[in-house]
Amino acid sequence: MTEPAYDYDLFVIGAGSGGVRASRIAAGYGARVAVAEEYRVGGTCVIRGCVPKKLLVYGSHFAEELQDAANYGWTVEKMTFDWPTLRDAVAKDVDRLNAAYTNTLNSNKVEHFLERATITGPNSVKLASGREISARYILVAVGAWPVMPPFEGAEHCITSNEVFSLEKLPRRVVIAGAGYIALEFAGIFNALGSHVTVVNRSETILRGYDAALRDRLLQITMARGIEYKFNCGIERVERLEDGCLNVHMKGQPDPLGADAVLVATGRRPKTDGLGLENAGIELGEHGEIRVDDTAQTSCPSIFAVGDVTNRVQLTPIAIREGHAFADRVFGGKDTRVAYDCIPSAVFSQPPLASVGLTEAQAREMLGSNVKVFTSDFRPMKNIFAHRHERGLYKLVVDAQTDKVLGVHLIGPEAPEVLQAAAIAVKAGLTKADFDATVALHPSMAEELVLMR
Ligand SMILES: Cc1cc2nc3c(=O)[nH]c(=O)nc-3n(C[C@H](O)[C@H](O)[C@H](O)COP(=O)(O)OP(=O)(O)OC[C@H]3O[C@@H](n4cnc5c(N)ncnc54)[C@H](O)[C@@H]3O)c2cc1C
Repeated sequence: MTEPAYDYDLFVIGAGSGGVRASRIAAGYGARVAVAEEYRVGGTCVIRGCVPKKLLVYGSHFAEELQDAANYGWTVEKMTFDWPTLRDAVAKDVDRLNAAYTNTLNSNKVEHFLERATITGPNSVKLASGREISARYILVAVGAWPVMPPFEGAEHCITSNEVFSLEKLPRRVVIAGAGYIALEFAGIFNALGSHVTVVNRSETILRGYDAALRDRLLQITMARGIEYKFNCGIERVERLEDGCLNVHMKGQPDPLGADAVLVATGRRPKTDGLGLENAGIELGEHGEIRVDDTAQTSCPSIFAVGDVTNRVQLTPIAIREGHAFADRVFGGKDTRVAYDCIPSAVFSQPPLASVGLTEAQAREMLGSNVKVFTSDFRPMKNIFAHRHERGLYKLVVDAQTDKVLGVHLIGPEAPEVLQAAAIAVKAGLTKADFDATVALHPSMAEELVLMR
């Protein structure tokens, strides 16, 4: 398959979710593939994203479980928590996954270079060590990077990249932003006993999620002790002599004291210094690589998948895009990625999960032809534990066709329940199909088929 003029059939820049999948599938079709990774094989999801984050969620959740255990007859003599133990155990698991992903590349005969690569032309890249490599196709799968706004004292703040290796559990954490990463870490630190203040420029948390769920999350997390400061942004952060931080905010007379400031205000495609101009690759207004629906950039031999294209910044999408690229270019299959009905979750405490249209989106599309069904319930485990927190499940239905257009859940294990419901929405099932399904009792998920 290799044209003699090229060192490889495919050179992938970035061994993250999209890059590793594309590499191994292309190699499986017989292509000669190499990948460059400037940090660690596995990428954001595995090394400093979904996986370590979820492990911290699990770790912090024990606080609630241990508190509730007394109602179930357990005596827990002395509850203590040791951050370095959890942090180091998570880091060890990340090492394990890093090795597993590296093995995947090896076993699929994908050559890998642990160094940065930049593009020097439509068919050429240069490694940090100076080596020039040519390839028939180049796939850019470099992901995205946290944005640190340029306020004074930003160097004292951390992003999600550094949060996993904090030396100590901060007693007081200020978190800038109210997207999913901000609220997940707010939940983790709150559960671990830190005082958490979320500072956000607007009044909206979790833009894009259904308003009823966002309100419910806000109520519950405030009751759990998370403080919110809306319509204000960080102006300046100063480090005091004792090492503590003072966070000055616009429009707020007094600074907030903190031991850590986590900035989670957004992620930007990691295109800076990548040499895209050497191949005439067009960028969009947020620095993302513009691609068509086959992932092809404005340079025909160069493709891009995953977060760098800033379409849907989620691991399963980067993986699908990488797979579809390899199928099309090396496997002769016209695989396309469908961007409808993408389920997503926020691993806040409690978590929320969602698929399809929110009520507001459905009303904008269909006007009054929308029916909404809700179940506002107190999960059995919360009743027994004397917790007053309520779950909220919501179905958004097309009143004319009876099709379920959206499912939105907040409550314990909501993401686990949602994945199965997403199949029904993707399959275009109707509310009548939900009603005809026998409840699985006793469960929280049964609420999905009991809404009338
Ligand atoms: C804190 C956090 C939590 C998240 N949680 C979730 C979640 O729960 N669920 C979910 O679906 N998604 C989650 N995400 C998003 C998810 O991690 C990304 O959508 C996904 O990793 C994107 O995959 P990718 O292949 O596009 O890029 P990445 O996985 O980021 O991989 C890009 C790779 O390219 C490397 N690289 C960059 N530039 C170069 C270069 N010039 N040369 C060589 N290598 C380079 C990088 O080091 C990186 O390893 C989370 C992200 C973060 C930050």
